[in-house]
Amino acid sequence: MPHWPWLQPAAATARRATPFVLRRNKCFSPASVCASPSIHDRAQEEEEERKSLVVVGGGAAGVYASIRAKTLAPHLNVLVIDKGKFLSKVKISGGGRCNVTNGHHLEPSGLARNYPRGHKELRGSFFSTHGPQDTMHWFSDHGVELKTEDDGRVFPVTDNSASVVDCLLNEARRLGVSLQAGKSVSSASVSDSGKFVLKVEKRTVDFVDYVNANYVLVATGSSQQGYSIATQHGHSIIAPVPSLFTFKIADKRLSDLSGVTFTRVKAKLMLDGIQKSAPELTQTGPMLVTHWGLSGPVVLRLSAWGARELYQEKYQAKLMVDFIPDIHIEDVKRILFQHKDQHAKNKVNNSFPTEFGMVKRFWRFLLEQESLDGDMHWATIPKNHLNAIALQLKQWMFEVVGKGQFKDEFVTAGGVPLSEISLNTMESKKQPNLFFAGEVLNVDGVTGGFNFQNAWTGGYIAGTSIGTLASSSNLRPQACLQLEAS
Ligand SMILES: Cc1cc2nc3c(=O)[nH]c(=O)nc-3n(C[C@H](O)[C@H](O)[C@H](O)COP(=O)(O)OP(=O)(O)OC[C@H]3O[C@@H](n4cnc5c(N)ncnc54)[C@H](O)[C@@H]3O)c2cc1C
Repeated sequence: MPHWPWLQPAAATARRATPFVLRRNKCFSPASVCASPSIHDRAQEEEEERKSLVVVGGGAAGVYASIRAKTLAPHLNVLVIDKGKFLSKVKISGGGRCNVTNGHHLEPSGLARNYPRGHKELRGSFFSTHGPQDTMHWFSDHGVELKTEDDGRVFPVTDNSASVVDCLLNEARRLGVSLQAGKSVSSASVSDSGKFVLKVEKRTVDFVDYVNANYVLVATGSSQQGYSIATQHGHSIIAPVPSLFTFKIADKRLSDLSGVTFTRVKAKLMLDGIQKSAPELTQTGPMLVTHWGLSGPVVLRLSAWGARELYQEKYQAKLMVDFIPDIHIEDVKRILFQHKDQHAKNKVNNSFPTEFGMVKRFWRFLLEQESLDGDMHWATIPKNHLNAIALQLKQWMFEVVGKGQFKDEFVTAGGVPLSEISLNTMESKKQPNLFFAGEVLNVDGVTGGFNFQNAWTGGYIAGTSIGTLASSSNLRPQACLQLEAS
């Protein structure tokens, strides 16, 4: 006997759908008030009248939503189905530490600016309903102590994502949420009774089941099946493309700098076929050289803001990097010329200008680019080479030739358009009682905990809407029963 009485095999689902509607009608007809069913019938009737929610996808958005809905409506039957393991991305996120949210962008409109897809739509009520501070309170209230690092990223103090996973799953179980792993929902149609009928499958064995639900939340991340459920209900899908990736650079010399981190560069992404000078395509912050390209927060942010255009351009672009954004080019030249005068008798390899905050390896690399011998003295460096070094430092042009594999944080741009969702409830504008939250929507953030924040906020709002709907609709049969008893 399953724990969720509304979960029935296909044939039984069809049989039970009709009596459910008839009984409800009977309850609201004046004649039925006089009818006095037995306690057993009433208990069964009550059980069947209990509203049910099926959450498709047990990631951050789905589990958080299930907890919120069940908290508001304890009588709501809540089932979360996941085709894999629950919260698997939370587990691996942030290099196994889980960057839960961002503690430096608390104000909703500033926070929304971190979402290349969603920055306009999320400026409104979305984050003011449940923002990073609410997320942090929620976790600390539920026993997960958090810390905010210098760059704003928020992690559990344990530096272990298991703290977040265990907290969410324990809370869901404590509230009585049913969790079913290893099964996937392939469709969700609406029956004549107005209830959803979800087709549940298990890939490894020949297993098909059908589940009834009053409410469905699609929180499937970037899975294709989530998109098909959405299209089944009249939604369109903005083609999914990757976001948050590193750049593959066609410059073999760069491998000499592999492992060097620049704490603050300014990088501008230039896409050939696209006349776009969006301010977001210029970013300032840390950059890392890898053995095959460029990485680090600046590159990841650019990959997110340019995700769609880069995809169109087959990841061919130019990247102009200013390695010392706080010093004007004329001052860079002046500093280099001054150094030449003051260190005339020193070897160029052994004495480099410290004003630029660069590492010796980078300085040697710059000299090599100018075919300068490191053993020559400063006095002998021609001025045109110093001008060229200044230009390299301020306007180095890299050829981006592809997308790298960044395993730490990767997200999908695209999905269900936000215009087709009521953001204050997360309900579909196409199909009543169908809700969406998380990455299945056309929302994605830059690195720093913003993607999980979208999942927590969307999940919270959807859970609140469903919980509220379920508790208000449960009042109706209860009122009916009170009338019967009086
Ligand atoms: C390696 C990695 C590290 C990351 N690190 C961070 C980080 O530190 N901070 C941050 O903010 N973001 C991070 N992200 C992004 C973040 O993980 C996602 O944005 C977030 O998980 C989205 O949550 P979600 O609940 O919408 O979707 P998901 O977490 O993708 O969950 C969707 C769930 O639905 C299930 N599912 C899909 N289709 C079906 C179906 N048909 N039936 C049943 N179940 C289904 C899937 O198995 C999955 O468990 C990282 C991403 C990756 C890949």
